[in-house]
Amino acid sequence: MRLRSIRLLTTVSHSMRWSQAFIPTLREAPADAEAVSHKLLVRGGFIRQLAAGSYSLLPLGQRVRLKVGQIIREEIDAIGGQELMLPTLHPAEIWRKSNRYELMGDNLFKLEDRRGGELVLGMTEEEIFAMLAGELSSYRDLPQIWYQMHIKFRDESRPKSGLLRMREFTMKDSYTLDIDRAGLDSGFDKHYGAYKRIFARIGVDAVDVLASSGAMGGSESREFVVRSRAGEDWIVTCATCDYRANVEKATSALDEIEDGGPADLERFPTPGLRTIAALAEAHPDVAAPDRQIKTLVYFADDEPVLALLRGDHDLQEQKLMDAAGAVEGRPAQADEIRELMGADPGSLGAVGVDEIRVIADLALMGRRNLTTGANQDDWHFSGVDPERDMTVGIWTDLREVASGERCVEDGGSLERWKGIEVGHIFKLGTNYSEAFGVYVQDEAGKSHPIVMGSYGIGLERGMAAVVEANNDENGIVWPVSVAPYELLITVIRPDDEATMAVANRLYDDFDSAGVETLLDDRDERPGVKFADAELIGIPYRVTVGPKGVASGSVEVTERDGLVRSDLAVDMVVASLAERISAARFGI
Ligand SMILES: [Zn+2]
Repeated sequence: MRLRSIRLLTTVSHSMRWSQAFIPTLREAPADAEAVSHKLLVRGGFIRQLAAGSYSLLPLGQRVRLKVGQIIREEIDAIGGQELMLPTLHPAEIWRKSNRYELMGDNLFKLEDRRGGELVLGMTEEEIFAMLAGELSSYRDLPQIWYQMHIKFRDESRPKSGLLRMREFTMKDSYTLDIDRAGLDSGFDKHYGAYKRIFARIGVDAVDVLASSGAMGGSESREFVVRSRAGEDWIVTCATCDYRANVEKATSALDEIEDGGPADLERFPTPGLRTIAALAEAHPDVAAPDRQIKTLVYFADDEPVLALLRGDHDLQEQKLMDAAGAVEGRPAQADEIRELMGADPGSLGAVGVDEIRVIADLALMGRRNLTTGANQDDWHFSGVDPERDMTVGIWTDLREVASGERCVEDGGSLERWKGIEVGHIFKLGTNYSEAFGVYVQDEAGKSHPIVMGSYGIGLERGMAAVVEANNDENGIVWPVSVAPYELLITVIRPDDEATMAVANRLYDDFDSAGVETLLDDRDERPGVKFADAELIGIPYRVTVGPKGVASGSVEVTERDGLVRSDLAVDMVVASLAERISAARFGI
C-alpha cells in the first residue's frame, strides 16, 4: 500500500494532460523582443513579463528552472558543497563594513523599514557568508564549500532581453573557505571542473575566459561564456592558442614604433583641426595617428580623470574604471570638459595638468616626439614625451583590442565575438574575512584571515542561454536534461475513441516507465498542435492518429532536426524510454 501511494505521488508530478495545463502559447512575439530566447520563451508560454527585468515563470518555465537548478546542485554537492539558505534582506551596515554599499553604486537596491532602518536587497552574499564563517576557529574546520540557490536583486540600468538581463533572478552562489592560497586554488579548480560539467549537462557550449573582477575585488577571475548574437559581452580569442579573454581584460601585441631622438616641446597653431584624422592630414610630419595622444575626460564615480591613449587606439571603459577603482563611469559632457580643461575636445592634452588624475595607456610608455592638444582651442604641442612632460598617476592597459590584432602569447590572430556570461568564478582572497574579522588558527596557533573564493551561476540566464544555443525556425529544441517534459504525445482526432484509448495507454505506460510525458489531448486542429509542439520544443513526440492505430503504429519525431520514423505501438515505450533515460544525465 505504502509503495503504491508513493508511486501515485510521483506519477502526478511526472506527467500532465495539455487540456488541463497552463501553457499559453502565442503566435506573435512581444514587439520589443530582440533576443531569440526572449521571443521563444514568451511565445512558448514559459515566461511572462511583469515589469522591465522582472518575469513570472509559468509552469513550463519553472520545470526547466528546477532541472537546471538540480543539475547545479548535483555538481556542487559532488565537490563537497553544503547547501544553505540565507536572507536576501540585509542591514545596510553589513554592506558598509565591506565597503560595497558605496562601491556597488546604483546597482544595489536600497530601502528603509518602518523604523527608518536602512536595508539592502542582496546581489551576492560574500558579507553574510563571511559573518557565518566567524564561527570557524581552527584550521581543522577548513576547508568548507558553502552555497545557496536564492533570489538576488540588481538594479540594472538597462534591463532587457527577457531572462538575459533581469533585476530579480535566481543565483547559485557558492563560497570556498580555506586556510591558505593553496586551499583557495584547489577550491577554485574544483568549481572550474564543476562548472564545465554543469554547462555541458544543461546543453550549452561554455568556454572560460579571463575576466575583470570589477567591484567584487580579488586577484583572479574567469567567466564562462556562451557564444551568441544575443550576448552583451565581447570576447577575444586567439586562432592558434588557448588565449581567451573578455574584452574588458584582453590585450594584444603591438609593433615597435621608432620615434627618433628627443625633441623639445613646441606649441603650434592648428586652427579648426579638431579630430585625429584632420590633424594627421594637415601635419603628416608630426601627427600621424600613432604619433598623437588621444585625451579623454571621464568621471570615474564622481572624480574627473584623464585617459590617455595612442591616437589610433580606442578606450576600453571597464579597464579605466578598474584602474581608477571606480564602479561606474561616464564621459564628461561638453560644458564639464570646458570647465575642467579650459578648451573643447579636439584641443585637449595632459601637458601641465596636475589637478586631475591622469591614467595613461601602456602603449604610450617610452614614446617620444608625440603630438597632443595644448588645452587652448586650436593649439597643439609637438615633441611630447609623456614621461618627461606629463604627470601620469597610473600607467596601465586601457586599450580595447580589435579583431585581427596579434596574440600576446604566440602572435596568433585575435578574433572578437559576442557571448552570454553564464557563470563567473573569483579568487577573492582575504578582503571580506579581514573586513569581518574572520580568523582561524593554524597548527602552530598562529592566526590567519580565512581565504575566500566566490562562484556564481544565474539560473534564468542559464535557461535563456540554453534556448539561444538550441533552437530552429520553428521554436525551441530542448536537450532532454532540462526539457520541461521529455516526451509529448500528440493525439490526432481525440474524439476518436480507439485513437484516444491508445494515446491514454501510452501515456500511462510512459509515465510508469518514468518518462515525463505531456499528452496533447486538446480539441485543436493537427496543424495547431504540431506548431505548438515545435514551439515548446519537447525532445520526443509520439503522434497517435486513427490511421496509425488501425495498422498498429505511431509516428515518432525527434525535435532536433525533426527526424521522423514509424514504430509499432507495442515497441514505442521500451524504445523511447531507453533513449530518454540515456540522455537524461546530459553529457
Ligand atoms: Zn595565441
